[in-house]
Formats: sequence, structure tokens, C-alpha cells
Amino acid sequence: MSTIFEKIIAREIPAAIIFEDDIVISFLDISPNNKGHALVVPKKKFENIFDADLEVAGHMMHVAKKIAHALQEAVGATGVNLVMNNGADAGQEVFHAHLHVIPRFPQDGIFQKPKHTSYETGEAEKLAEEIKNAIR
Ligand code: AMP
Repeated sequence: MSTIFEKIIAREIPAAIIFEDDIVISFLDISPNNKGHALVVPKKKFENIFDADLEVAGHMMHVAKKIAHALQEAVGATGVNLVMNNGADAGQEVFHAHLHVIPRFPQDGIFQKPKHTSYETGEAEKLAEEIKNAIR
């Protein structure tokens, strides 16, 4: 199924494009957390980290670094969040992979403090072993 990002890549709908090469395109998020919030999107679609082409994903990170520096210069960002939502339960709404590059400013307060949980004694070690054994 075609996503809104494929339409942007095909120039069927407009976007404020800030960078493009053979592998990725980057444009401003239409509903930014802060002004300058950009998305880095692979031209050849994969959905998210679970089916990612790792070479392309590596290139997305490379481009995100360029954009992070550009945001320091262009909007005076003093920090940058790189965010990738993978799966509906992680907040993914557009199922064409994308890396958010979000400029941050002192006390901008754009994110709530996340909830935390804790481990019982020995639980983290047991879980670490299970996850370690599941890594392929
Ligand atoms: P996610 O929740 O990680 O899937 O984020 C999808 C992002 O795409 C959201 O931050 C939206 O604001 C953004 N978005 C959706 N449609 C467009 C569009 N036409 N142009 C730019 N950004 C968009």
C-alpha cells in the first residue's frame, strides 16, 4: 500500500524538502514538535526497523547528522533528538520508515518525562540472558 511519503518522493504532493540524494529524501514534518523538525525517509520503502535495509538505515543516520548540524546553524538548535517509531504500539503512524530529527532548545518542554518501571532482584540478569539468547 502506498503511503503519504511515497507520494512526496514521487512529487505527487508537496513537501518542504531540505535534502535529497539517490537513497533518501528529507523534508520538514508537517506537524513539527519544534520548527525545523525534519524527517529522513528512504526512497525505497521499508516499514521500520524490523524489515530495515541496514545499509540504507546507516545512510539515514549519516544524513541525520548533516541535518543535525544544519539545525544548529539554521534554527539555533542547542540539542537534537533522533526518534524512530517502530510499530503502531511505538507510536508509528506512517508505515514507511523515517527518522525524526527534532531540534531542541533550552526548556522547550516539548516532551513529557517518560514513565519508568523497575526490576525485582535478579530479574534484569535473567531477562538479559533471555534477550542475549534471542539475538540473531
Ligand atoms: P510517526 O508517528 O513516527 O509515524 O510520524 C509520522 C510523521 O509524519 C508525523 O510527525 C507527521 O506529522 C508526519 N507527516 C504526516 N504527513 C506528512 C506530510 N504530508 N508532510 C510532512 N510530514 C508529514
